[in-house]
Amino acid sequence: TRIFVPDDASALSMGADKVASAIMAEAQKRNLDIEIIRNGSRGMLYLEPLVEVETPQGRVAYGPVAAKDVASLFDSGFLTGGKHGLGHGLTEEIDYFKKQERLTFARCGVIAPVSVEDYVAHGGYAGLKAALQKMGADIVKDVTDSGLRGRGGAGFPTGIKWKTVHDAKADQKYVCCNADEGDSGTFADRMLMEGDPLTLIEGMTIAGIATGATKGLIYIRSEYPHAIAKMKQAIANSVAARFLGDNIQGSGKSFTLAVRTGAGAYICGEETSMLESLEGKRGMVRPKPPIPALEGLFGKPTVINNVLSFAAVPDILAKGAEFYKNYGMGRSRGTLPFQLAGNLKRGGLVEKAFGITLRQLVEDFGGGTYSGRPARAIQVGGPLGSYVPATQFDLPMDYETFAANGAMVGHGGLVVFDDTVDMARQARFAMEFCAIESCGKCTPCRIGAVRGVEVIDRIIAGIERDKNLIVLDDLCQTMTDGSLCAMGGLTPMPVQSAVKHFPEDFDRPPVAKAAE
Ligand code: SF4
Repeated sequence: TRIFVPDDASALSMGADKVASAIMAEAQKRNLDIEIIRNGSRGMLYLEPLVEVETPQGRVAYGPVAAKDVASLFDSGFLTGGKHGLGHGLTEEIDYFKKQERLTFARCGVIAPVSVEDYVAHGGYAGLKAALQKMGADIVKDVTDSGLRGRGGAGFPTGIKWKTVHDAKADQKYVCCNADEGDSGTFADRMLMEGDPLTLIEGMTIAGIATGATKGLIYIRSEYPHAIAKMKQAIANSVAARFLGDNIQGSGKSFTLAVRTGAGAYICGEETSMLESLEGKRGMVRPKPPIPALEGLFGKPTVINNVLSFAAVPDILAKGAEFYKNYGMGRSRGTLPFQLAGNLKRGGLVEKAFGITLRQLVEDFGGGTYSGRPARAIQVGGPLGSYVPATQFDLPMDYETFAANGAMVGHGGLVVFDDTVDMARQARFAMEFCAIESCGKCTPCRIGAVRGVEVIDRIIAGIERDKNLIVLDDLCQTMTDGSLCAMGGLTPMPVQSAVKHFPEDFDRPPVAKAAE
């Protein structure tokens, strides 16, 4: 019998290794023949560690399993999918999972993550094989036609970026993957790299073949040791299987890939800072122009995309641009792996087509707040994203709709707060975050964020509140208009959204505050 126990960091943090050892020990004690496969996460983090047993009907799920539950699972006959208090029936019939539209994450949690054999058996490398039959310009056209936009947050059309690199003349071009996933409440890049790293490798290899780049680098934050290990192993396995390296599948085309580890600076998630860091320098933002597509890594034309952008590409090549484009709304095509975090009953990863509303994500999937109190605000798109109030929970997830409402979809991370949240404190946190993480290159961000914390402190203390609210607004305007990159330029977004949607939190007398 095959038993799946995830070794994704979220499952490990909940004791998955102990569960795997307990299952093996119990099986030996009972003289039962089992095989334990360490898979990635299915994304239902509220059920981790989620143990699955393979049965003729499909995989049956049990979770969250602790080592102490293992003997009773064997007693209940879970090796044949027997009933148990922790049982959820067939994994793919669980509502949370069944209602998703999994394209990018179709294999995540299903396969053994670094096995090329398992990957190919589940449709892997079909996109690369199709790409090897095409001219670079035609691959770029497929990506353009699919409507894919940068999943890192900016939403820039991926095909246009690739075309710029394709058309550039240079002796060397590069493909760089930004896996510095530093936004609060986001974990999709990590989950993909730990659960299905070959999809990222395939997407980057296709990018190399499309644009004429022969070298690729994946920049992963040092806080992701499991992802780093999986990526390195998956790269080695791909090279051994001739899907990576010289003369890929006998095509005469070559692409090499290596992992580089960041040192923990949020700003290295900004593409030009990442390039500086990759070149061995301190991660500071470069002015644009020149754009990295023309002068990127070591001054050469460089494709830079986020993990999820590259990981969407194999499906586009394997199934066609139309297939991908058929998902979504407006100019937001395809699916986005939303990450549900914060005060929620059921946190996890939900891949859905654009157009789903915040309310559907938080209520239908997330099950409402963990505390049971009303949800008051959702920060969407990381620490630089807006705090969306309950009156806007019916907004569809779409780049343009969110922008029109002073918010952003970003990397698809949602952090939910209930009605006990103090939004003035959250606004202060945004400024403080910027003050700590600012690279220091430009004044509006370096100095502005520090002054921003001071001004909000005065507002919270009730000192000349009206005047200081005007000062804060003025400061936010300066940061928005004068910052060199999105760090300083977008920090005003959470601050101003908090002031706009939750003015009462900025309007409490200092005495009442102290009494709370
Ligand atoms: Fe650096 Fe901030 Fe200026 Fe960006 S906005 S370049 S992080 S100082």
